[in-house]
Amino acid sequence: MSAKHSLALAQRQSDALLNRYSGRFAPSPTGPLHFGSLITAVASYCDARAHQGRWVVRIEDTDIPRIYPGSEAHILRSIDAFQFEPDAEIIFQKDRLDLYESVLEQLHAQGWVYACQCTRKMLGSNHIYQGTCRDLGLALKDQAIRVKVDAQEICFTDRLQGTHCSNLSQDLGDFVLKRRDGIINYQLAVVVDDYLQGMTHVVRGADLLDNTERQIWLGQLLDYPKLEYMHLPLAMNDQGQKLSKQNMAQALDLNQAPQLLQQALQALHQAPVDLDAPRIMLQQAIAQWDIEQIPKGTTLKGIFL
Ligand SMILES: [Zn+2]
Repeated sequence: MSAKHSLALAQRQSDALLNRYSGRFAPSPTGPLHFGSLITAVASYCDARAHQGRWVVRIEDTDIPRIYPGSEAHILRSIDAFQFEPDAEIIFQKDRLDLYESVLEQLHAQGWVYACQCTRKMLGSNHIYQGTCRDLGLALKDQAIRVKVDAQEICFTDRLQGTHCSNLSQDLGDFVLKRRDGIINYQLAVVVDDYLQGMTHVVRGADLLDNTERQIWLGQLLDYPKLEYMHLPLAMNDQGQKLSKQNMAQALDLNQAPQLLQQALQALHQAPVDLDAPRIMLQQAIAQWDIEQIPKGTTLKGIFL
């Protein structure tokens, strides 16, 4: 392991000793940030600061074919324009692939992962993997790598969405951690980095609610500490679709940062904040931050952008 990455492990230990709220904003650069991303950034920032916590930014860019040109630069410009103040250097997951590989090796040594040679055609329309390759003992090289799941019910209580459970073997089957084309799956990178960055709290959009049990399962296998989750209701467009690059959500206009910040806080049903420099507005929002006011449920009603 490189010196830089052993430093990351040492950092993890010192943060864990502090035992302090640590939160993050972790966008994927599959398009420029839109109003939905801003809501997540604002909520994760205010929640961390209202708990005297740390807050970091992580760019989730392992899925290289899906990266949209220029969107990483737009994310970085947005962090500046909204005057968020991360407590650590922004990290890029594509620079950390050897860390995820070393965790895959660890899981392999423990017998939790195996190579899968099934083609998309063989898997067909069945969304639950039947474990076809589980006992074939195939070499890992140039194959998809799956992690075993078992029949236990995995539950967590979300700070907004209540209790959610999944039996991964019934709902999903053994799932992919690395694709045949070598791309590290989002689930693995998230779990490893939340651990290495000493995260205690995850605040993100409700579109990721269904990923949580998989991430908890991986965290259990790796003996990582448990996290607290808060999944925010999603802003919708006037077609009733969540804002995303796929449905052409508008990029944040960074010349309108104070106005957009006001609208994001309004969408979260927080007390009004006066128009000012974003840093001042965020200070006021943190002082007033109240998660009880955030609408329950997985979508925000009446947000039409
Ligand atoms: Zn298979």
